[in-house]
Amino acid sequence: MNIAERLKEIQTKLPDNIKLIAISKTKTKEDILEAYNTGHIDFGENRVAELQDKYNSLSKNIHWHFIGHLQSKKVKTIAPFVSLIHAVDSFKLLEIINKEAKKNNRTIDCLLQFHIARETSKYGLSLPQANDFLNSEEFINLKNVRIVGVMGMATFTNDEKIVRAEFKSLKKIFTTLKENYFEDKSYFREISMGMSNDFLIAIEEGSTMVRIGSKIFGRRN
Ligand SMILES: *Cc1c(COP(=O)(O)O)cnc(C)c1O
Repeated sequence: MNIAERLKEIQTKLPDNIKLIAISKTKTKEDILEAYNTGHIDFGENRVAELQDKYNSLSKNIHWHFIGHLQSKKVKTIAPFVSLIHAVDSFKLLEIINKEAKKNNRTIDCLLQFHIARETSKYGLSLPQANDFLNSEEFINLKNVRIVGVMGMATFTNDEKIVRAEFKSLKKIFTTLKENYFEDKSYFREISMGMSNDFLIAIEEGSTMVRIGSKIFGRRN
């Protein structure tokens, strides 16, 4: 199967209300075009320079998702065009995104990344850390960012029980935040969880956005 066929096959497995982000990191512009030509417009990247390069040379209709750990000093590069930043893991980063969004006269949608996996190497907030700033005056004053939900990555393991429990914990964090801070905010509704190997479990556990790379584009080097 080629990229277009694999993409379509995954689409048929996804319920209508679940958004597929095609993760094109390390893949060529030709690969992205093949997916884009099927009508797919949501793509995700995890390196700023690579994203900028692809943004410059591909269709401006594409919605670009930034899914990696974002360094503060690089926010300004993607602020003019990024569609959704999936992995906000500190309040400091959120403040910088707000500043750069303001310079560009726009509001940038963001997800808060939570650390749900067993690996300590994965980034992400804890619920107490998020509570600390969501309660603050400083947060309420950020007018150019909008928190539209949460994101998380499960442990890299074949043990389905572990993965499922971690996705459940992210869903629970989402529900807690919704009740405490975003009850009346209809835009707070996204749970970005699920990758090539675990997206079906993620969907069962309440995902609204899956980030799928290798299952569409083939293995990365
Ligand atoms: C690479 C990556 C993905 C996609 O991974 P696959 O296993 O290739 O589907 C999803 N989310 C994040 C944060 C990634 O870095």
